[in-house]
Amino acid sequence: MIIQLDINCPLKTKLEVAEIMRSHCVGSHWVPGKNIIVAEISKDTMEDMQKRLKGITGVRNIINTMGPHKLVSRDYQRENTVIKIKDVVIGGKEVILMAGPCALESEDQFLRAAHTVKKCGGKILRAGVFKPRTSPYSFQGMGVQGLEIIEKVKEEMGLLVVSEIIDSETLSMASPYFDILQIGARNMQNYPLLKEAGRSGKPILLKRGMSATIKEWLLAAEYILSMGNSNVILCERGIRTYETATRNTLDLSAIPVLKELTHLPIIVDPSHAAGKSNLVSPLAWAAVAAGADGLLVEMHPEPEKALCDGEQCLNPETFKIMTSQLRQIVAALGRELHSYPESTPAIYVKSL
Ligand code: PEP
Ligand code: MN
Repeated sequence: MIIQLDINCPLKTKLEVAEIMRSHCVGSHWVPGKNIIVAEISKDTMEDMQKRLKGITGVRNIINTMGPHKLVSRDYQRENTVIKIKDVVIGGKEVILMAGPCALESEDQFLRAAHTVKKCGGKILRAGVFKPRTSPYSFQGMGVQGLEIIEKVKEEMGLLVVSEIIDSETLSMASPYFDILQIGARNMQNYPLLKEAGRSGKPILLKRGMSATIKEWLLAAEYILSMGNSNVILCERGIRTYETATRNTLDLSAIPVLKELTHLPIIVDPSHAAGKSNLVSPLAWAAVAAGADGLLVEMHPEPEKALCDGEQCLNPETFKIMTSQLRQIVAALGRELHSYPESTPAIYVKSL
């Protein structure tokens, strides 16, 4: 159950509501900065609780959400969440293209990638600065040295940046530099980090854990919303299955399932799902056809020289082909994919 109080409701109301929560609920949580209380209740106390709450002046609205998902659910908010960052709108009619290398390696590498991304209609650059690598001996990212490069390139290109934070220290260091903070698959259930991301108020891109169910993923998002931050973008990036032909199995069905369950925007990362560059484009197209609000794609100016995930990175040429085909799918769906005035017109490509 979600209880909304009037903005200026008196302390007396809050105390009365708190007393009802104490006596009737399994658990309750006041969302910081908002007059919203989320309560975990049993079915048999619901009717009595509703009756008592309705009699209190200052209680504006009571929403019954009996499932585990509360603030992320469509019961709470029927209309889609639309996240506006500067002039970029995520969760609307436009399909948002986010792309760039897996890891930031140099200013030259990022700038070259950024030019290709922009030419193809991308509005958001990606590049990991803090890399959570499977092996402790693999390239761990440029770290703080990379932050200045991020700042410089995004200013020069007039684009936004999404990049991963891996703990509370990197969250606070990177917040002024990144427009969207990415929480990666490995950290999806790092609850203290999720709460801190909630407190930051920054837009958060929350990737699906590699073994997480949709329910667990949405409850991870719930942690962020429960701290008063509803600027959450979900990112499907493939899950672990018995299949070894791909790095992960892209769960396309997650898109329509999530569209039903939640008001949050969903984007798809076909790169970490595929693990192989030749499989990225069809997965990207399928994701958009299935209703994704955008894509997060790895693209490197020279994938063969990449320090991380080169085998799944598109190169500038295949990225251009992928996006020009995508334009036709987007148009057929009655949606939009941005193109900058200086960008070359979409070329028709029969097959890859
Ligand atoms: C990434 O986007 O660079 C990344 C590490 O992704 P994931 O968390 O999905 O593995
Ligand atoms: Mn990667």
